[in-house]
Amino acid sequence: MLKGQNLAGKRALVTGSTSGIGLAVARALAAEGADVVLNGFGEAQAIAQLCEELGASYNGANLMDAPAITAMMAEIGPIDILVNNAGMQHVAPVEDFPPEKWDAILALNLTAAFHTTRLAVPGMKAKGWGRIINTASAHSLAASPFKSAYVAAKHGLAGFTKTIALELATHGITANCISPGYVWTPLVENQIPDTMAARGMTREAVINDVLLAKQPTKSFVLPEDVAAMAVFLCGDAARNITGANYSIDGGWTAE
Ligand code: NAD
Repeated sequence: MLKGQNLAGKRALVTGSTSGIGLAVARALAAEGADVVLNGFGEAQAIAQLCEELGASYNGANLMDAPAITAMMAEIGPIDILVNNAGMQHVAPVEDFPPEKWDAILALNLTAAFHTTRLAVPGMKAKGWGRIINTASAHSLAASPFKSAYVAAKHGLAGFTKTIALELATHGITANCISPGYVWTPLVENQIPDTMAARGMTREAVINDVLLAKQPTKSFVLPEDVAAMAVFLCGDAARNITGANYSIDGGWTAE
């Protein structure tokens, strides 16, 4: 790939970057010249191809496992840009919500970001420069029924981001959330069957009357829209943007 120079010399870890939003962010950072480390699950050959395409490396740590995160961060070494993006969803009424799904969602969508951040910050402080970008969600600002764990985790991630923004404000390190509405990725596609069951609806009704009903634009956000914001937040023009939560949700949270 032909690389730009805006982020040349910057090393970036993007968690959950083998698919969806994370992959778009990884592509965009690599296109600006960053040295990207991919993370996430997937087929070995497809991941090897991605690494070649982006000039990236890969660490497949399971981010629900704290010791695996510690090992990953030690292997990668100091990073300049941390994008906490890996996430999962489960849709069920609270009384039927499997406790193991609650634990998994909190571990991946919230606790993993704490571990990567606490391990990345010393290196960023040493350089006096850093960018921490957390993929939150419209669900960091508003709730939807049947998503108790996800909404709790994303509200938690927004609070965590504000806290570290304050702690790191004098170190040249910014921390922000990007909060997409519905983006057409496997995460959204995979929740359709459970939403059909939880609400007794057809697939078409879930897409039009549940998902897109939330977005005044009546269209899905593109992964590339989120990636463009991530690139902006990494740039010098964003040096004074910290503790912010940028909505890219087609107007959802304006209502
Ligand atoms: P996705 O399912 O396409 O990608 C998820 C990524 O996380 C994949 O690379 C997957 O391999 C990785 N992953 C899953 N479990 C992991 C684990 N235990 N350890 C390491 N990696 C793991 O999902 P997406 O829609 O691109 O979601 C990315 C982020 O965006 C998530 O945090 C999600 O909550 C958030 N988000 C998505 C939407 C949406 O509509 N798709 C909206 C708002 C926020």
